[in-house]
Amino acid sequence: MIELKTPINKLTSVGSAISKKLSKINLLTIDDLIFHYPFRYDDYSEVLTIDKIKAKKTGTIKAIIKSISTHSSFNRKMSITEALVSDKTDSLKIIWFNQPYLTKKFTKGQTVYFAGKIIKNKTHGFQLINPSYETPLDNKNPIHTGRLVPIYPLTSNITQKQIRFLIKQTIPVIQKINDWLHRDIRATNNLIDLSFALEQIHFPSDKKIMTKAIKRLKFDELFIIQAKNHLIRQNIKHKQAHKIKFYLAKTKKFVKELPFKLTNAQKRSAWEIINDMGKDNPMNRLLEGDVGSGKTVVAGLAILNVILNSQQTCYMAPTEILAEQHFNTFSNLFKNFSFKIALLTSNSIKTNFKKKITKIELIKKLAQLDIDLIIGTHALIQPIIKFKKLGLVIIDEQHRFGTSQRQHLLEQTVSPHFLSMTATPIPRSVALTLYGDLDISIIDEMPKGRKKIITKIIKPIEYKKTYEFIKEEITKQKQAFVICPLIDESDKLGAMSVKQEYINLTTNIFPNLKIKALHGKLKSTTKEKIIKDFLAKQIDILVSTTVIEVGIDIKNASIMLIHGAERFGLAQLHQLRGRVGRGEDQSYCFLMLDTDSITATERLNALISTNNGFELAEKDLEIRGPGEIFGTQQSGFITSLKIAKLTDVKIIALTKKIAKQLFYQSPRLEKYPLIKKKIQASIMSTHLE
Ligand code: ADP
Ligand code: MG
Repeated sequence: MIELKTPINKLTSVGSAISKKLSKINLLTIDDLIFHYPFRYDDYSEVLTIDKIKAKKTGTIKAIIKSISTHSSFNRKMSITEALVSDKTDSLKIIWFNQPYLTKKFTKGQTVYFAGKIIKNKTHGFQLINPSYETPLDNKNPIHTGRLVPIYPLTSNITQKQIRFLIKQTIPVIQKINDWLHRDIRATNNLIDLSFALEQIHFPSDKKIMTKAIKRLKFDELFIIQAKNHLIRQNIKHKQAHKIKFYLAKTKKFVKELPFKLTNAQKRSAWEIINDMGKDNPMNRLLEGDVGSGKTVVAGLAILNVILNSQQTCYMAPTEILAEQHFNTFSNLFKNFSFKIALLTSNSIKTNFKKKITKIELIKKLAQLDIDLIIGTHALIQPIIKFKKLGLVIIDEQHRFGTSQRQHLLEQTVSPHFLSMTATPIPRSVALTLYGDLDISIIDEMPKGRKKIITKIIKPIEYKKTYEFIKEEITKQKQAFVICPLIDESDKLGAMSVKQEYINLTTNIFPNLKIKALHGKLKSTTKEKIIKDFLAKQIDILVSTTVIEVGIDIKNASIMLIHGAERFGLAQLHQLRGRVGRGEDQSYCFLMLDTDSITATERLNALISTNNGFELAEKDLEIRGPGEIFGTQQSGFITSLKIAKLTDVKIIALTKKIAKQLFYQSPRLEKYPLIKKKIQASIMSTHLE
């Protein structure tokens, strides 16, 4: 008997070849199939006679095969199978490409259902092209014709027919699924039963029920997020944290000694954070601010007060390069204090007070409060790393981390205050859904004196001129980044590689300039030295992959040239562009494309038209549609949305309302054991990510 967790290969017609292909798209067990929803439907629900279908564009016919044969196309590249079919009203030609086996499959005189698109060909008249087919025997409950036919997101050579055939076999399992949402909640909110919704999402009886099925399944995904957020918030409220006292005078002095004046938005955000940390339950806050808006120093103000309270701070960055940079920035910011600062990545250990230190020594010091601030990468999350008094955890560029890491750190025995930072300018409505468990501070103002980065698409005939322009800028002591999509050459992609461009620039274009290549495969010490040299203006041009995409702060760099720009998402391009324009000089972002496709240019035009990340995020949302909101792909959150979209505002509002009601009536959800179980299971699964 098949059940939810039965492996797919127990289904009829799944051999090892097919199960291997299915596993490639993460379809391993029956429930994976059940929750693999169609992304659209072909409407073949009308079964028509041949004379009628000619007037329509698509549909299903039931007809008798009069003749069928296969021949090669005139250039022999394709096989063409032609059939003549008829019913009592008329006859029609059917064409299939590259499916010669159909000649054997069908016999003359057989009655078959055909569904597909009708094309009117100038010389041959009406034709049905590549239709799906089903013979009346299995057509009691047709799945490929005569209905709304589901079309699934697929890759790796599985056909729509195959997957439909498999999903059809899961229907008995679907019918046994118990609903976790109480009947009265369903009734008052016009939500259909879960197993019915699942059955209908795959094989809808009609459009109306299909719409209801979609609504119910969207509801489930969004409700679980809301409920999880409630639970997390509640857990936090019940946790004890160390109150961080605000050191007014020392903070004022620190701010006064900064080389710049804080923007109002920075002050406001810092105040929100400091205020939050003054409470005895943990802060859980997201600091959102566009690339270059100055989040680091705001974090610095929080860290300052935490250390003054004799508590430790753990600061996580997504890349080694960035961790290294922050280590330097904070060592410098706190140079007038005797704070002990350390760096720990999988390849590097440093402190600001001792030349050489081993990992064991460092870990010992952390456990004894001999380190006030530790900066690092994922390497900081290890069971052996224990803090004596962890007061604050900061996650920089948090969209680069999974939600599970956030959870992991939150669930330490001591409850530290928690600050995540992101440059991902998520529209506010979306942020509230995504991060409903967090409070949000927004830096919506750039430091004074920043100029708009001039962004341009560079056509091949302008390459020479552009390189000349770059040379002029470098003569004026400026520096440039050149970004390539690849490290090594690859014939397949036809994209520019770092190695190729490095050779090109050093030998042909700028033989007299100081150029270095940077990418993720280099040794950490090499990477570190290159960045240091670039910062010290020992290097004019850095040819790099996207390893420098996030966070890197080099004020003197004013040119960002991106090869194969259409290969990157808007969010990524915005981040890359954000590497320049961080000082007061006029900066430039040049986009070179590998294709001249119009859609690519349209997308890039959005980047040209605005420097504002929030506006770009809105545009990106329009262009790509939700599900892949601006740079949140890696957040581990979006993957849990299969059918719901972050623009489903009505359903989001509904889920919020219901979650609020339930938690109000029953704060620990005792009254709703099924819902509680469902949410806990979902929390568990994000932990295992
Ligand atoms: P991000 O928000 O992208 O992390 P950073 O914190 O790295 O930005 O700041 C970008 C640059 O702007 C840094 O060089 C920083 O020193 C500088 N900066 C930060 N705040 C201000 C300010 N109020 N005025 C001028 N420069 C600032
Ligand atoms: Mg930053």
